[in-house]
Amino acid sequence: METTSGQDDRYSRQVLFREIGAEGQKKLAQARVVIVGCGATGSALASLLARSGVGTLRILDRDYVEPSNLQRQSLFDENDARESVPKAIAAARGIARFNSQIVVDPQVVDLVPANIDPLLSGFDLVLDGTDNFETRYLVNDYAVKNSVAWIYAAAVGSYCVTLNVLPGQTSCLACIFPESPRGTVETCETAGILNSAVNLVASLAATEALKFLVGAQLRMRRTLLSWDVWSNERAELAAVHPRAGCRVCDGREFIHLAGEGRPHITMCGRNSVQIHERERPVNFAEMSSRLQPHGNVRHNEFVLKFWREPYEMTLFPDGRAIIKGTTDTAVARSLYARYVGS
Ligand SMILES: [Zn+2]
Repeated sequence: METTSGQDDRYSRQVLFREIGAEGQKKLAQARVVIVGCGATGSALASLLARSGVGTLRILDRDYVEPSNLQRQSLFDENDARESVPKAIAAARGIARFNSQIVVDPQVVDLVPANIDPLLSGFDLVLDGTDNFETRYLVNDYAVKNSVAWIYAAAVGSYCVTLNVLPGQTSCLACIFPESPRGTVETCETAGILNSAVNLVASLAATEALKFLVGAQLRMRRTLLSWDVWSNERAELAAVHPRAGCRVCDGREFIHLAGEGRPHITMCGRNSVQIHERERPVNFAEMSSRLQPHGNVRHNEFVLKFWREPYEMTLFPDGRAIIKGTTDTAVARSLYARYVGS
């Protein structure tokens, strides 16, 4: 039974761990962490930090749950996939079932230069649960510019990689990868993914996050660590200091925050295009009856789905849409214009 001191019971095994202790646990309760992207890595990060008692978690995600997510995205269930529940909402509901004492703030949104300030400001730490380099470089620009720590974490196939970025102290993402490996990177859709690689990188990143939040920053790893759980190859690359000549750390050129290098309406390796150029509030009931004659349509409070062979459109209340069945942005744009409006 939980009492007013239920907190003590809930976190007792973690408080017993000397490096955290009662003091550390109090700091965790005060901590505010934002998780950018809530797919596989984001789910695992959110789950671990929520169970650890991080007091406030903001979860950002632009996507909705699908059946192919369930193999690795541990906060979601079959009902979320059936209902196409936005991942941020499904994550918040999932967390509420095991820890209702923390604050979870789900935001169904695509993180872009225009909204990054209000979405990330006021948080102690930013965690990477994204699936694409454009967003990571955007977060990296924001973090270095505003001196906010962030932790890069990625997994594909059996391989995962992570880096702690402490602006001004360690290397940033651009120190190590000055250019986005655009076009050459494998994605979950081309190389598949093992859920164990995801959970490994999330465990590593969540532990570094705990160190950061309890004030044990000197114990944080200062390397880019990569690990292949299938071949058991493991490598570390020094990331002790910002690199002289880094465009971001040294040059303070924040091209991604300025919105450059971001044509980006296709979704990471998927047969989908995202339309998010303009915000327009959508009334789902009205839109449903308008679309009814043209195909199958269904909606709940979070998304409206419209099927017109061979396309499937998922519309969000702010007018953003994900159109499945094409990677051709012109086709997607014209479908959107025809059925939603131009
Ligand atoms: Zn740098």
